[in-house]
Amino acid sequence: MTANRTHHRRNTNSKTHVQETPHGVDVFQSHWNCQCARCAKKRAAVHRLVDSFSQIPADWIRELAEHQGETLAIPMWGTVFAPHDGSDAAAIRRLCRPIAGAEGDADMESLTASGWEAVAETGILAVTFDEVLLLGIHGAGYDFYADHWEPLYNALGYHWHR
Ligand SMILES: [Zn+2]
Repeated sequence: MTANRTHHRRNTNSKTHVQETPHGVDVFQSHWNCQCARCAKKRAAVHRLVDSFSQIPADWIRELAEHQGETLAIPMWGTVFAPHDGSDAAAIRRLCRPIAGAEGDADMESLTASGWEAVAETGILAVTFDEVLLLGIHGAGYDFYADHWEPLYNALGYHWHR
């Protein structure tokens, strides 16, 4: 019902007949849900990047660290991501910087103590463990693609969608 109404309004307002879905933003000023061809291509490219990462249960990493006599704090999300592609990993390492505002935040302080850093302004955390770059997200219950993975794709300067 809602969809029909929207469709109808769009048609009556447009002066010319438009074949393609127009580019637009949602209520959060995000293009993430835009159905136009350009955004759909970009979404596919971001998914391609993330799909190329190995997904590793955080508990495995924690146990591995314990076996090596280390305590490794892991971000909240129960899966960590390991980029396979060496050039992705190198580019992500170049974006790493100390986590801002970690002081006074117990979680962030322990993550920092375990060597986690922030990946640019993506909200993604990164650590090198056993010479492998691991990515983690200290959050849950929202869309990681829109809030983290698309910003990562942008920060890496990739243009696979063009
Ligand atoms: Zn669009």
